Amino acid sequence: MSTEQDRIQEMFPNLDFDPLALREKYREERDKRLRDDGESQYVEAADELAHFSDDDPYAEPAEREALDLTIEVAIIGGGFSGLMAAARLKERGISDFRVIEAAADFGGTWYWNRYPGAQCDIESYCYLPLLEETGYMPKEKYSYAPEIYEHVQRIGKYFDLYPNALFQTRVREVRWLEEEQHWRITTKQGDDIRARFVIQATGPANRPKLPGIPGIGDFRGHTFHTARWDYDYTGGDHSGGLTKLADKRVAIIGTGATAIQCVPFLGEHAQDLYVFQRTPSSVDLRGNKPTDPEWYEGLEPGWQRERRENFASTLLGQNFGEDLVADGWTDIARRIGISLTNRAADAGAIDIEEVTLRSEVADFEKMNEIRSRVDAEVPDDGQAAEALKPWYRQFCKRPTFNDEYLATFNRPNVHLVDVSESQGVERITESGVVANGTLYEVDCIIFATGFEITTDAHRRVDFDTLGRGGQSLYEHWKDGFRTLHGLASHGFPNWFTIGINQNGLSVNMTGMFDDQAVHVSYVIDQVRQRNAQTVEVDAEAEEAWVEQIIALAGAGATEFLAECTPGYYNREGQVGRGANMQNSPYAPGINAFNDLLRTWREKGDLAGMTLS
Ligand code: NDP
Repeated sequence: MSTEQDRIQEMFPNLDFDPLALREKYREERDKRLRDDGESQYVEAADELAHFSDDDPYAEPAEREALDLTIEVAIIGGGFSGLMAAARLKERGISDFRVIEAAADFGGTWYWNRYPGAQCDIESYCYLPLLEETGYMPKEKYSYAPEIYEHVQRIGKYFDLYPNALFQTRVREVRWLEEEQHWRITTKQGDDIRARFVIQATGPANRPKLPGIPGIGDFRGHTFHTARWDYDYTGGDHSGGLTKLADKRVAIIGTGATAIQCVPFLGEHAQDLYVFQRTPSSVDLRGNKPTDPEWYEGLEPGWQRERRENFASTLLGQNFGEDLVADGWTDIARRIGISLTNRAADAGAIDIEEVTLRSEVADFEKMNEIRSRVDAEVPDDGQAAEALKPWYRQFCKRPTFNDEYLATFNRPNVHLVDVSESQGVERITESGVVANGTLYEVDCIIFATGFEITTDAHRRVDFDTLGRGGQSLYEHWKDGFRTLHGLASHGFPNWFTIGINQNGLSVNMTGMFDDQAVHVSYVIDQVRQRNAQTVEVDAEAEEAWVEQIIALAGAGATEFLAECTPGYYNREGQVGRGANMQNSPYAPGINAFNDLLRTWREKGDLAGMTLS
């Protein structure tokens, strides 16, 4: 019987690296970072840390009279998911709604994340919704944050949504009133709103996440999270010019997709920049380019939907035809993703072990390129270059794309502090950050530590939702999400949510939110047209959907993620435990999910829901 080594030799006679040694290296690097406390290593931005989330550096506080209102629909959240829900309701002629939003405008993620260099790494032609309807041509293949925020406002104006907005308003509680058959929404601004329907659209990245580093509240210098960038302190704006940092020693904690984009600007302007890195990101080529107006104007009607579907199917390895987006995402998907498996199956290949091995070797090759890029970009600093190399498979963490980040470490004022051995920053003191036994005294600490994306559902929003009989939504979901189609739950009549769990997930989130908004607005419209008072998911339909989600999630993805370095993709290394499988998306992917919803709507019987 041949060993795996023999098999590799036979299959890949010309490899210039040893896959088994790399596999071992990846495991060592993962084990170094695995922490027993998993997701509980993070602390909530609450109490003495609440300012990291509650402060709005972009708007003055607004005073207004508390409202006492009865409306048809309350949409909670005015990011892309709430905005699309509002737009789709308007399209169906439903205008009696309010969008309750903590910020001072629509935008959600793109309202809050104004850090220098913020950009969307999903192609603008897919990411910016309603381009055909609004007639807007994105400036570049990858839009920067201000252009996305402007597009949000464009959609708001196009659908005349501003009169429906209740900005700078934070929900306190959402409670079902059985006798009135309405939801009662109270807010921290003193509003008392009764709504027949609620759409919770609070988004996956709405709450900044903070590391539970001992002493995090002790620092006496200036500090903020990247999602609340303080330009009063740094000077400049999204495009740079952070001139007030010229005499400042700045620490940034975290090196994920956000830090990759803002570090070049900090490095350019800070007197000294200390980048505290626990795990390096995979930093691939960005290669942005302006939109060719001739090409754009020549696109046939319906092109955006076609492009989004093409992108999704390429990422899922289901597209064997033209790759319309043809970028870093689709390149890695075609080379190493499920694509390889599906192609092999399509071609009649049956040896799944062989296909899995081919995919792993292709992944090693891709990551070797990523690591070589580090050597090419940071040629003179062997130590930093070594630490900047990611040792894990491509999809263990979100891939990043940037053409300035790596070279920033060539600057003499930029210092990379590798904190992998201590599994993170050791301590924060009144005057700075302690790592590897050294105190780095700084004037400012910036947390680029991400968002509460996969933590407990209740942690992601700071209010409760109480359904029939006063049952808490989060009690109902205590062992994991329980929904039909990821959109509604039993015991919560006339209540819907738009999100990322138990539905057709896509990295192109705005498209996915829009698809859900179309569906939810359809159901609300049907309840009204059929003169019903309420609609509620049946317990059996909910149970069947949960079982289907778990069954489809399968063991493959769990095995892959268990080998990965910790991060929010694998619940900080605790994949497979608790609600992980249950909170999965619909595994066949967004296009299949949309087909399923479309068929469900076409049948017209609201299967799995009861009207009363
Ligand atoms: P991430 O959660 O991706 O990164 C958090 C960073 O903080 C990681 O580098 C993490 O290290 C580090 N960290 C956490 N705790 C500690 C600690 N105790 N000591 C030292 N370091 C620590 O957050 P981001 O804001 O970068 O990105 C979040 C998500 O937002 C992305 O995954 C993406 O979905 C989205 N995003 C999208 C963009 C786009 O272009 N579309 C751009 C920016 C963000 P470790 O890796 O070791 O855990």
